[in-house]
This record gives sequence, C-alpha cells and structure tokens, in this order.
Amino acid sequence: MSISGSVSGINSVVVAMDGPSGSGKSSTARGAATRLGLRYLDTGAQFRAVTVWMLDHDVDLEDPAAIAARAGDFELVSGTDPQAPTITVDGQDVAVAIRSQGVTDHVSAVASVPEIRHRLLGLQRSIIGEGGIVVEGRDIGSVVAPDAAVKLFLTADPSARAARRTAENGAGTVEATQADLLRRDAIDSGRTTAPLLMPEGAMHLDTTPYSLEEVVQQVVDIVDQTVGASAEAGGSPG
Ligand code: C5P
Repeated sequence: MSISGSVSGINSVVVAMDGPSGSGKSSTARGAATRLGLRYLDTGAQFRAVTVWMLDHDVDLEDPAAIAARAGDFELVSGTDPQAPTITVDGQDVAVAIRSQGVTDHVSAVASVPEIRHRLLGLQRSIIGEGGIVVEGRDIGSVVAPDAAVKLFLTADPSARAARRTAENGAGTVEATQADLLRRDAIDSGRTTAPLLMPEGAMHLDTTPYSLEEVVQQVVDIVDQTVGASAEAGGSPG
C-alpha cells in the first residue's frame, strides 16, 4: 500500500510527527489536528494498549518470542478525533490503563518485537488511508508514512521533557521521570527494527523555548504552507 505524499488539499495531507517522549509531540499533534480539522493517531498509545493486553494475558515480557507468538491475537481499535481519542483492545477501553507505570516500564520491550511492529504497521496504514491526519510516534516519517507531505521531528532538552511529563503525570519526581525517559530513549533508538531517528526530509523543531501554543502555531503554518504550495504547483509538493 502506498501512502502518497501528493496533497490535493488539507483533507489528504499526512503529517508525520516523530520524536522522543516528552518532546511535546502529543499535545502538539492534537492541537494542530484540532486547528486544521484533521484526524489524529497516537501510535504510542497503540503500543501501550498491546502492552496492557500482554500483561493481562500473562505473557512473559522478558521473552521476545513469547510476545511475537501472540502478535495476531488481539483486536486493537483507535478512535481518531483529536479532541477525544479513544483506544480499545478486544473491545475493552484501555485509555486509562495505558498510562500506568507498569505499562510505561514494559512498552519499549514490546515495541522492539518486529512481529508486533508489523501487525501495528498494517493497522496504522489502514487508519491513515487517504490522509487528512496527524500521526505521532517514533517511526512515522521513516517507516509508516515515508512519503508524508509534512515530516516533523520534535525534540526538547531532557530536563524540559522530564518537567513536562512529571506535570502531566501529576506524580513522581522530575529526576525519576528523566531517568525513565532516557531509559526508553536508549531502547527506542537502539532497536534494530524501526528505531527512533530523525527521518529523511524531516524538519527539526526544538520545542524547549516555546509554549505549546507557539509550537502548534508553527506546525499549523508549516502544514498550511505545504498544502498551499502544493495547490499552486498543481497537487504535488514533492
Ligand atoms: O509516545 P509514547 O511515549 O506513549 O510511546 C510509548 C512507547 O511506544 C515508546 O517509548 C516506544 O517504545 C513505543 N513506540 C514505538 N513506535 C512508535 C510509537 C511508540 O516504538 N511509533
């Protein structure tokens, strides 16, 4: 299946937003999708939901072969309204469960298993469909939608990322959160299949000095310019 980079209008644009946890990706992606009237897909939530399912089914998360063996056994559904994204596994709402510490501790191990990534890749591409969506993750611009018309790579200083994530969680210390973020970065960047990296052709946004509203505005401007340039050039932004 090809995910085309050609944009005939805002309704077919694909915005790939990658970066490490706490870089401001989720809030920025949801804010920009809302402003632009686009759908929104949080692929991190999908890997987290699979982790919830594996924990519920007593799969040994230290054993990649055991995880791989169950890669076809769950039914995952992601709702794409940026103002009210939903996620269910086998019909069960896991929106709260995916944010638990147990899931955060194990999700990068689950996401390192190629069979899991392959299963979710098919699902992610079918949700992206003809476009009109902002997709956030670690490998969107590199693997899931390499032809996306807009590719962004968000980063922020580790201390800023940890402070934001601790405030979102409403619990824990900034130091513990920072150690956890850096631990997951190392696993996500070091894995063989679809590692976290800045995709070819991506625009780097360092969000450290900016407010959420400022970053959302930057993204909205980039998407508007891309769609506008594409319309002028007759439908293909290249
Ligand atoms: O974005 P979030 O922190 O919720 O993602 C949780 C984990 O899911 C990441 O640490 C990473 O291991 C994995 N992930 C991934 N590829 C994606 C999105 C998330 O491997 N596209």
